[in-house]
Amino acid sequence: MDAEQWCLVVEKREAEQTRRRLLEEGLLDRRYKPRSEGDAVLLPVTEEIAGATRRTFVTVPQRADLPRHDLVGGIAILQEDDPEAAKRLLASRPSLHTVLFPETPVEGEYRTRRFAVLAGTPTTRTRVTEYGLRFDVDLAHAYFSARLSTERQRILGMMEEGERVLDMFAGVGPFAITLARRAELVVAADLNPAAIHLLIQNIALNRTGNVIPALADAAHLPRIGLAPFDRVVMNLPLAAPAFLPAAAALCREGGTIHLYALEEREGEYLPHIRAVTAGNVVERQVRTYSPGKWHAVYDIEKEG
Ligand code: SAM
Repeated sequence: MDAEQWCLVVEKREAEQTRRRLLEEGLLDRRYKPRSEGDAVLLPVTEEIAGATRRTFVTVPQRADLPRHDLVGGIAILQEDDPEAAKRLLASRPSLHTVLFPETPVEGEYRTRRFAVLAGTPTTRTRVTEYGLRFDVDLAHAYFSARLSTERQRILGMMEEGERVLDMFAGVGPFAITLARRAELVVAADLNPAAIHLLIQNIALNRTGNVIPALADAAHLPRIGLAPFDRVVMNLPLAAPAFLPAAAALCREGGTIHLYALEEREGEYLPHIRAVTAGNVVERQVRTYSPGKWHAVYDIEKEG
């Protein structure tokens, strides 16, 4: 049967590497068969990620009626509270050690969820590999989303060598440690002690010598006399716009602020941004969040 689906269009020589990465991040939609189109390969994805486009695919006959899930390292997160389906999933994937069901939405200041263990080892900890980096995560105690890996690479691709970067809401460090590859220095702040604890472990795990972890409320950062940064990352989509004046105070003239926001209308936060800086702003959709809502990122050049 044919169906229209989101997909990434990639060059043939990059197809296998991209396929593996999408698989690792739980973004490859295995219900459809990848196919070629001219010199490119079309890889079906589970949602509208950055760069995705719509194409028609042939559906693959399902192996064993597996439930829909997200993958984070060795953990699968099911959308249904279905222990039988969880056992089938665990048995079908040797890389999995645990299947979880989220009992709450992402909530609170720390942006965490509570989980029930449906199958496997009773843990919310796992190790994620992303573009050659490793991250220890604990899904119940600190936020982590594998779905932003493409976004992290996009920002890394925008950077000059030797930049000074501030990650205001760093979590366990996926942006900070990724961007440290090009940066001279990254200051990574979070007010969740469990996130900072994991960030310190991840700095050691990746032998990253230029990330400074800070257990701090981002609102206090402008008051500790830090020299201005070339780039500021603000990944706290529900509340980051409120921290924009602090980010602007910490960013040099001509530097870039990446503001992630949850919005229902294109350009929703532009008036807010305009009240803080007159510089160039480019907005893009990162991924859909729920019907009529999406995660957007505003790349803001600071001016005035
Ligand atoms: N950037 C990380 C990532 O991509 O995985 C984490 C993003 S998560 C959506 C937002 C993080 O901001 C959480 O780890 C939360 O603890 C932290 N946070 C919330 N309010 C904060 C504040 N006022 N100052 C510093 N960190 C804060």
